[in-house]
Amino acid sequence: MTRAAGFHLHFYQPPRENPWLGLSSHEWSAWPYHDWNERITAECYRAMVAVALTGDDGEVELYEPLGRSSVDVGPTLHHWLDRYATDVGSALADQVARAPGGAPARVLAAPLVHAILPLASPIDQERLVAWGIADYRERYGVAPRGMWLPETAVDLATLGVIAAQGIEYTVLMANQAVRVRPPGGEWVPVDEGNLDTSRAYVVRLADGTGVTVVFGQHDLSQRVAFGGLIADGVHLADVMAEAAAASDGIVLVVADGETYGHHHHFGDLGMCWALRRLEREHGVATSLGSWLAEAGPTWEVELAAVSAWSCAHGVERWRSDCGCVTGERPGWSLDWRAPLRDALDWLRATLGARIDEALARRVRSGHEVLVDYGRVIAGAIDPAAFVARHTPTPSSDEVTTEVLELCEAYRNLLYSFTSCAWFFADPGEIETSIVLRYAAVAIDAARRLFDEDLEPGFVERLAAVRSMNHGVAGAALWHRAVDDARVDDERVAAAAAAQWVAGASATVHERGVFSLAVEPAGDLVRVTLTHRPTMRRRRNEFAVRQVGAFAWRVRNADGPGVEFTEADFGEDVVARLAMATLLGAERLDVEAALNEFATQLLARAATAEDERVLVSLAGAARYVSPIGEAAIRRALLALRATRGPGVWGESLTELADALGIETTRSSGG
Ligand SMILES: [Zn+2]
Repeated sequence: MTRAAGFHLHFYQPPRENPWLGLSSHEWSAWPYHDWNERITAECYRAMVAVALTGDDGEVELYEPLGRSSVDVGPTLHHWLDRYATDVGSALADQVARAPGGAPARVLAAPLVHAILPLASPIDQERLVAWGIADYRERYGVAPRGMWLPETAVDLATLGVIAAQGIEYTVLMANQAVRVRPPGGEWVPVDEGNLDTSRAYVVRLADGTGVTVVFGQHDLSQRVAFGGLIADGVHLADVMAEAAAASDGIVLVVADGETYGHHHHFGDLGMCWALRRLEREHGVATSLGSWLAEAGPTWEVELAAVSAWSCAHGVERWRSDCGCVTGERPGWSLDWRAPLRDALDWLRATLGARIDEALARRVRSGHEVLVDYGRVIAGAIDPAAFVARHTPTPSSDEVTTEVLELCEAYRNLLYSFTSCAWFFADPGEIETSIVLRYAAVAIDAARRLFDEDLEPGFVERLAAVRSMNHGVAGAALWHRAVDDARVDDERVAAAAAAQWVAGASATVHERGVFSLAVEPAGDLVRVTLTHRPTMRRRRNEFAVRQVGAFAWRVRNADGPGVEFTEADFGEDVVARLAMATLLGAERLDVEAALNEFATQLLARAATAEDERVLVSLAGAARYVSPIGEAAIRRALLALRATRGPGVWGESLTELADALGIETTRSSGG
């Protein structure tokens, strides 16, 4: 039998962007980085591209672990890397392309959304898997052989869905197996303590086909992820090699990729030391895909009816108070999980039925359209060409946009099942807010498409979703999650008008998923907005006035003439306006603007607008250097001197907290 010892790296982050804009918002807790993706990229993803290792001769080698491991990258993280860390994605593609067997031997696909597949309907399972495969094919130019299942959540139906789409194998953990049998032999019960994980198994499906399963080595995976084993790569390699020799099979350490460098600082080094030693000192293969190609399964395994790697109760963690939780505090309850899932299931069923009816009127097959939409999300086909392929006759622009709106509404519904929403102890935090925002985007689409307001019905169903940490429930929790992020086309167009007048943007520019073309129209500013995913367009003329250093009034000259202020524009636009005001047109330098702003503030009384400007500028930088941080400190202290801590809003207080500046002072003394 072939020996192998190596690592499976599961890289994943939930989608963090504002789903209306397609732009990621800042997260102060990730300071001095813009957000957690940015911080984890620095600590882990970029660090893992090439790790400097010293050899016995003192020479430094740049070691590339990704092409020597088994990897999956959640598509939502991959899309973020495509936009903000292109070097990481292209390094991964390059390293796996150079490895024997190419991407299929190194990289597992994943469903597009990190949803618990056994809790999704068969039709949603099929589309989530198809979209993940479309993403993979567009990225690597080939079909995947393996697929990672979110949270390794699996049942027989899930395996049937991936097998039907050509997936040959997946990676699970030992606690998911119930019994095994050798060829022609009897079933033997197993548990995570005694399952022999050195061989590959096959799960037989009802139709006679099967899916190969490779299990992570339980003890070593646990000690790497949650113990200190990764601190000593030499020792780790020796332990893994010894286990591989004893079993004459594979030893696979399965953990979150973020273990290496983010959860455990220098874990990236430990992992690379181990990998290099396994290859060079012990002479064992390290790649799961290559090992599997030679050592295919002979034994059968029967899995628990439904199971996952971070819940001991099937998949209850993602729908009920099963007790499995991260971040709990005494007195907190998990009874919000069931009503959250029920509310989302209701929205999926209600809006999904409307979408199916409407698609049936426009395209040859609504189901095929929604399966094939994965290629649009992957960027493999242009949206207009996609609609043309599926409509029986050439479509008007209105029909093209309607079909795309229907597909996007459905996509947002599926994103609202991102499993992280149920994972942690409190639904008032970002992970749950994210799924509520996707639900809100779908609800907004329903208003446009069907002139139907699903929001009251949905919010009513959230009544029992309570945040203990923030003291909000139901409607209050909903508004806290959604209101600040929600934008509509008119507001985006108004912001573009102000930005253009300030000289902070070119005539044609993009903002997230929007394309904007701006031109003068007499005394007014004409904005043509295109929402790229749906090709939805609107044209408006705006009257733009600057009424203070950082204060703007933008009135829609059409119809009832809605007026917007800078508070409606979004932090990214406020930051651009401030940079243009402080530094001159189109000089977009966040730190220079922060310095200039702090200098000005120290010489005058601060206003309420200043707070918004400071928060927006501080939140605009992908990374705040010590120079930028010093300017933010000066500005904060100037604000406190003239406005006092009592009048600071929540966002300014959060910023001060991130920098470790005390925001409350006792009035006694
Ligand atoms: Zn559980």
